[in-house]
Amino acid sequence: MTDSPFQDPDTRTELSALGEFGLITRIAERIQLQQASSVKGIGDDAAVIDPQGMHQVVTTDMLVEGIHFDLAYSPLMHLGYKAIVVNLSDVYAMNAEPRQVTVALGLSNRFPVEAVDELYAGMLLACGNYGVDLVGGDTTASRSGLIISITAIGAVKREDIIYRSGAGSSDLLVVSGDLGGAYMGLQVLEREKAVFKETGAQPDLVGHDYIIERQLKPEARKDIIALLHTLDVRPTSMIDISDGLASEAMHLARASGVGVRIHDDKLPIDPTTYSTARDFNLDPSTCALNGGEDYELLFTIAQADYVKVKGNPSITVIGHMTDPDRGFTLVDKNGGEHPLQAQGWDALLKRG
Ligand code: ADP
Ligand code: MG
Repeated sequence: MTDSPFQDPDTRTELSALGEFGLITRIAERIQLQQASSVKGIGDDAAVIDPQGMHQVVTTDMLVEGIHFDLAYSPLMHLGYKAIVVNLSDVYAMNAEPRQVTVALGLSNRFPVEAVDELYAGMLLACGNYGVDLVGGDTTASRSGLIISITAIGAVKREDIIYRSGAGSSDLLVVSGDLGGAYMGLQVLEREKAVFKETGAQPDLVGHDYIIERQLKPEARKDIIALLHTLDVRPTSMIDISDGLASEAMHLARASGVGVRIHDDKLPIDPTTYSTARDFNLDPSTCALNGGEDYELLFTIAQADYVKVKGNPSITVIGHMTDPDRGFTLVDKNGGEHPLQAQGWDALLKRG
């Protein structure tokens, strides 16, 4: 853990030594386009993409140092990886295939060329893993640390698009993977950072690998899109979980004009998440409901499809949609009913 990497003047190349065009050339040299739809990448005034008769989906996410990440414990390579993945997650949530990304960077002079190299190593690793081309971007100076804005472009046959608004009032609510891990990983990292600041002790992350990876190097659930295809299940509505399950479930319900009931005892929680939450005196269910940054897929399916998903270890039925007048409800382990509350973290309030 460190407050300022890349301080050693012997191994540090200032950005000014390379200049903006030198930096862009350096980035471009590392990129080989994979997608047939990428007609032109970096090097002209704009990239050129062939939509190949498909609908295109476009989504942007911005990550700001001090708001969305902390370089004291986020290695730049992981940060680059995560910055790409969170955008791809939004594309998968439309049931689309991500194909291209563009990357806009605000860089302060704290960052040498080596830092940019690491960031792009992470971004290009993610691009390679998901078969996506980095086709352009923008580079500017920043006075307030690192800013990364990424736009992802995907394609989908028009009849295959899945919106948030398609849930029926008797559909089942299903989630992939497990929940609350990224949030608990963040709690561990924040705790170890505080210890480091006070005592200089290096972080003790033993036994927390899973949740720390969930926080620092998440994956987008491309595999779930493929699985649903294999199972011949077509979700009626879908969203990815960036802010927290409760918040996203309410987005689906509101957009679809239905109610929703989530069963507390059905929430998929990894044992590491569970025990760490207990260590922090937090309720594991609350972490799963409101933690955020899990990047799992939350979707609804027709009841008739239940037999196809039943018992599958990658997805869990956690509740169902209802008539709109029944509202948004959390059912506890004793059958008690509580209004579902979205405490998903608001970037401006919680970390600003
Ligand atoms: P302009 O001044 O016309 O906006 P730029 O000099 O910003 O052009 O960009 C030149 C080319 O380099 C474009 O293809 C652009 O998409 C690409 N580019 C610029 N910055 C980045 C970056 N940080 N990452 C990837 N590509 C970039
Ligand atoms: Mg530009």
